[in-house]
Amino acid sequence: MSEARPRFRALLETFPAYKPGRIPSSATGRSHKLSSNESPHGPLPSVTEAIAEAALGINRYPDNSAEALTAAIAERFGVPREHVAVGCGSVGVTQQLLEAVGEPGADVVYAWRSFEAYPTLADLAAATSVRVPLRDETHDLAAMADAITPHTRLVFVCNPNNPTGTVVHAAELEAFLDRVPGHCLVVLDEAYREYIRDAAVPDGMLLYRDRPNVAVLRTFSKAYGLAGLRVGFMIGHEPVAAAVRKTMLPFTVSCLAQAAAIASLAAEPELLARVEETVKERNRVRETLASDGWKVPPTEANFVWLRLGDHTASFAEACERSGIAVRPFAGEGARVSIGTPEANDEFLAVARAYPRRN
Ligand SMILES: *Cc1c(COP(=O)(O)O)cnc(C)c1O
Repeated sequence: MSEARPRFRALLETFPAYKPGRIPSSATGRSHKLSSNESPHGPLPSVTEAIAEAALGINRYPDNSAEALTAAIAERFGVPREHVAVGCGSVGVTQQLLEAVGEPGADVVYAWRSFEAYPTLADLAAATSVRVPLRDETHDLAAMADAITPHTRLVFVCNPNNPTGTVVHAAELEAFLDRVPGHCLVVLDEAYREYIRDAAVPDGMLLYRDRPNVAVLRTFSKAYGLAGLRVGFMIGHEPVAAAVRKTMLPFTVSCLAQAAAIASLAAEPELLARVEETVKERNRVRETLASDGWKVPPTEANFVWLRLGDHTASFAEACERSGIAVRPFAGEGARVSIGTPEANDEFLAVARAYPRRN
């Protein structure tokens, strides 16, 4: 037998192996997953009914152009259908975008730290990442504009930012967009849009309208509670949406995901009432942490960020011992999702008992 082994792209050597988030079990037997920014609520009956009905047709391929879902999204947001592109979660759409712009010599600019999918998917698309450090836990839009060159194809602005929860406001974002040359696409990642209560945060759906190089990413995974089904979408001008449709893996949004997303749009008032509860809990968690002496950046998402530096791992372990999974970023900090009031109380108790503050 030959000694030769299958060969892979050298790039893969630089990727950490995927570690699925564990659900720890505590001494009390209770456990809470506060590591993935999911909705703590199960699906609505109207949504599971739509999924059950769609299940009767799964011997057929899904509608590759997702016509009914595209029409429902277009109607909901008051945009032309030609401006809508769907994908396997907004991470799937992110990959489609990067496949559409990426090649050797193409730069992609984003803040750091920001959403973990950007570097990996940029690498896979053979683009070069240009990371612009956060300032005060927030996008430094002036520095990001300075980082744009003739090689820059795409800039991500994650608003609110994952994992810090911080936002950029309309005036600064518009001033930034005015500085971005037309050859460069700006992608506003608004995965947490529904949790924003700060009125100074712009709605990408309005901002993109008169800007051909601006596109908006949204998802059904967070506020709409469909993380397990994988469906997200982009709104952008026709050439952008067309490019993103070309790089889509065929049939990437399943029949069940399409049906569930349509049912979720129909059930929006109920889902947004749940979001309101999460927003109240978010504010309570942040205020409680602050009054216990923690520094927590203002957050407009369904999570809080604690910059812990070298104490990140020990803090995450303390949480885990109490049955709470958080998302640590080694040496930097921990992101903690807002869960049910009970889960949040248990997290707050661990944070209160932790021997030091940040
Ligand atoms: C959670 C999240 C998404 C959504 O990913 P899906 O693939 O739609 O589940 C997108 N962007 C950011 C910044 C996120 O945190």
